[in-house]
Amino acid sequence: MSEKTIFRRIIDREIPADIVYEDEHCLAFRDIKPQAPTHVLLIPKKEIPSLNDLTPEDHALVGHLIMVLPKLAAQLGLGDGYRTVINCGPDAGQEVYHLHVHVLGGRRMTWPPG
Ligand code: AMP
Repeated sequence: MSEKTIFRRIIDREIPADIVYEDEHCLAFRDIKPQAPTHVLLIPKKEIPSLNDLTPEDHALVGHLIMVLPKLAAQLGLGDGYRTVINCGPDAGQEVYHLHVHVLGGRRMTWPPG
């Protein structure tokens, strides 16, 4: 079997993380290298390396993740707005091949992103 990703190890509680939300299908924890005053990663518990690996059976799971985002943002106090980012593949700078949504807030974001 291939090695666990760092995020799988967080799900399995093998390494510590500052977990801010959890339900049956997903987990959210603070990014170890925050790029904004609030920077949280929302991940599915199911191992899906990237957006490109989604299959039709993931339809409900993806919907669930999106539905969790506003709840999570409210819980994090991001009433003035927030940015969500899903990096996919090398050109986007994806480092961890376990699907994750970055939730960034607490400062004014610029556009276009770098
Ligand atoms: P990406 O570049 O989209 O794959 O994002 C991966 C993110 O995971 C980066 O923002 C890292 O700072 C973050 N990260 C890596 N290891 C950990 C960890 N152990 N705990 C929390 N965040 C992590």
